Amino acid sequence: MLITRIEIILLEIPYERPFRIALAVMDRARNLVVRIQDSEGLVGVGEGCPAPFVTGESPDTAFQAAQEYAKVLLAKDPLEITARLDELEKFMRMNPTVLCAYDLALHDLLARRANLPLFALFGGRNQVIYSNRTIGLDSPEAMAALAKSFVAGGARSLKIKVGTGREEDIARVRAVRRAAGNKISLRVDANQAWDEPTAISILNALAEYDIQVCEQPLPYWNEAGMKRVREHSPVPVMADETIFDHHDAFRLASAGGADYINIKLGKSGGLLNAFKINAIAESAGVQCMLGGMSESLIGVSAGAHLICACPNITLADLDSPFHFAANPIHGGVDFQPDGSVRLGDGPGLGADVKPEWIERSKRVVVR
Ligand code: MG
Repeated sequence: MLITRIEIILLEIPYERPFRIALAVMDRARNLVVRIQDSEGLVGVGEGCPAPFVTGESPDTAFQAAQEYAKVLLAKDPLEITARLDELEKFMRMNPTVLCAYDLALHDLLARRANLPLFALFGGRNQVIYSNRTIGLDSPEAMAALAKSFVAGGARSLKIKVGTGREEDIARVRAVRRAAGNKISLRVDANQAWDEPTAISILNALAEYDIQVCEQPLPYWNEAGMKRVREHSPVPVMADETIFDHHDAFRLASAGGADYINIKLGKSGGLLNAFKINAIAESAGVQCMLGGMSESLIGVSAGAHLICACPNITLADLDSPFHFAANPIHGGVDFQPDGSVRLGDGPGLGADVKPEWIERSKRVVVR
């Protein structure tokens, strides 16, 4: 069996309203989708979400790189996933979301070939996953109002974006805690915005609001600082932008730089490396969250299938499809506004781009 056709799609999905974090404001997703067809006509679908400020790729560079990757894969066996991904990494490094799209498509194809849902192929167990709902940067009042509506919709866990300044950030968390009540678990994400003294000061002030974890308090490169913040913070520390692959995870976990690691398939280059990160974290007594950027239900489904196969991934932050003004995907996981994610029992990821969205998108076929 050989790869005979690869369709590369730049899927542009408008957001319902702009979403702000410390690093950027987003008003739409521009995601890379690849559809790999084998010589018997079966298709595997994968997605990567280029975020220039995190992954160093733009949607346009990713679209270009995907076409060059496609030529490396054509006429080769899609079931030899390890070999195929190794060839891509050796051909051109540092395109993690492109690698992710191919990794997901190859795994999807393998699972469809095996006629098993992806989690079953990995030896996992079907279970309901609960994702947090995310509150973007805004005034404390606006963030509290959104928190209230999420809790009214059944959310169990909220992730609060912070990172514009000490007093504002504390006011945001205070307002959200008051609006959400005491039964809801709260996570904060500073997206690299603080320095060490600021992080330690803010996290000590936030302790009274019962914060489950703080994501990426410091710039991605400050691994030694992450350890020092962790030692002086009553709130557990999670590494996100610091960790792309298993090499990063080994370094940081060995140095005691994180209580949690946020695995994102768009940083790790897909599922194969995500398993490696999780194994290293588990060995070091570090739990993982499965997070995302602006993935549609294709990427989100891949994350959910991985969680079902990895008991060490105890947290989920997968709610990006709720930003979208429309859903371009048919199939995939069932994601409810309360944050619950349910997987089906069909083969593979079970998700694909709706034909009308394929037609209207920028796309290239390599064969
Ligand atoms: Mg984060």
